[in-house]
Amino acid sequence: MTSTALPTTDDLRARARAALGNIGVDVAEGGGFPARTPLTGEHLFGLTAATEADTEDAVAASCAAFVIWRTTPAPRRGELVRRLGELLREHKGDLADLVTIEAGKIRSEALGEIQEMIDICHFAVGLSRQLYGRTIASERPGHRLAETWHPLGVVAVISAFNFPAAVWSWNTAVALVCGDTVIWKPSELTPLISLACDHLLARAAEEVGAPRDVHRLLLGDRAVGERLVDDRRIALVSATGSTRMGREVGPRVAARFGRSLLELGGNNAAIVTPSADLDLAVQGIVFAAAGTAGQRCTTLRRLIVHRDIADTLIERLTAAYERLPIGNPFDDTTLVGPLISTTALDTMHGALARVRAQGGKILAGGNRRLAEAAPAAAYTEPVLVHVGEQTDVVREETFAPILYVLAYDTLDEAIALHNDVPQGLSSSIFTRDQREAEVFLSAAGSDCGIANVNIGTSGAEIGGAFGGEKDTGGGRESGSDAWKSYMRSATNTINYSTGLPLAQGVSFL
Ligand code: NAD
Repeated sequence: MTSTALPTTDDLRARARAALGNIGVDVAEGGGFPARTPLTGEHLFGLTAATEADTEDAVAASCAAFVIWRTTPAPRRGELVRRLGELLREHKGDLADLVTIEAGKIRSEALGEIQEMIDICHFAVGLSRQLYGRTIASERPGHRLAETWHPLGVVAVISAFNFPAAVWSWNTAVALVCGDTVIWKPSELTPLISLACDHLLARAAEEVGAPRDVHRLLLGDRAVGERLVDDRRIALVSATGSTRMGREVGPRVAARFGRSLLELGGNNAAIVTPSADLDLAVQGIVFAAAGTAGQRCTTLRRLIVHRDIADTLIERLTAAYERLPIGNPFDDTTLVGPLISTTALDTMHGALARVRAQGGKILAGGNRRLAEAAPAAAYTEPVLVHVGEQTDVVREETFAPILYVLAYDTLDEAIALHNDVPQGLSSSIFTRDQREAEVFLSAAGSDCGIANVNIGTSGAEIGGAFGGEKDTGGGRESGSDAWKSYMRSATNTINYSTGLPLAQGVSFL
């Protein structure tokens, strides 16, 4: 199915300008750094990228602001994030418009992305009164050990196009309450939403009396990111994007003994066992595999289904894929918007050609859509592919809506297939058998940072820590105790006795 006609680039430009205007951003046009829309694949505005001097200025200003911010009481730092959350709520519709225009998300998912930002602000405000350290029993009489958490310093946030605003907020809301200052280098594909977020944070800072430079935005491509990566004044580089990017960033930050928090690619799988509730499984699988046009790090890319139910499940999935409405993401009936670019579509077609050559068989979907209406855009049917084995292309992350289906006979075999990929982000099992569910969640089960039962791989809530193992980079962001990545701990030994006993019974003097 194709939903209603696409808007024109002029319509989208006007809508973006209106949303930015409502938020208070005046787009300074005329530069050579483009803002584009995947809805038509065309150019919206010419912005200006940060120069080397701008980067230097941002780092210096951020270091200066840190000196003030680190001693501002944490609950007062929380006030800034509380106000930011209010402004995000007030401008939810405008911000969602920008996410749709720049990243191509359907309306409901774009609104969901902004809701996630509001949620993390609430979480971080609570956290601002809960940055707990422990008191530890000392082996020495009249002594006490304590663990104290201090702000870390300047945090660089480098983000990807597919969660152009939420990933920034996960990092920034938490880093700010932890007493850090933030420099944001957003994806070069989504500059408009970052201008909007930066503006709202600046407004919140002004209103609550926080230093303006607790947050700085640097638009630009990877060269801007690389300068931040190599700058010794930046304590933490939190980088979200491809495994290729993480492979470059991780060692460079480590070489200067900086800290990095890497949130990289996934190759997420779901196991469907014979006892699964198939109604629920079909719903969960289609959302996880085709939602966001397959462009979530947690997108379901591999389906490992028990041989006895494979034909039934495939039949139901094929029927569901054939009904998916594809097209204008502003249309409420659309479920699949565009890919980010025609380059992404070419990569998808390349992967499909390889998997066919390796024996894969296309079961449903895969055709390009709306090529005549929008030749520079990349609309495609999500595709379901049957594969006999987990070949090299199946083991890679192709950032597009391709779902590979594999059959299994025993749960051990399914878990082995599941874990036999380089990435380790998200995973799930559909089963009504508690033993199978518990095995999947156990130390001998899924090796991912996220392991779910009877829901798909995508759509995490902010309360839990988010991230994955192996080539996914090992970082944890958002909820639980992910805040500890944004702080440094100090162990304090306090002697309130009149003697000086040494630890481990050592005697000296
Ligand atoms: P990308 O790697 O092309 O770019 C991500 C960001 O890194 C951009 O801001 C880019 O300018 C910057 N960058 C690239 N190379 C760099 C370098 N050498 N030094 C410094 N900065 C550099 O990724 P993308 O195409 O925007 O996003 C899609 C990828 O991101 C997918 O692989 C997806 O799985 C991953 N992703 C992961 C998570 C997660 O939480 N694990 C979340 C969202 C996206």
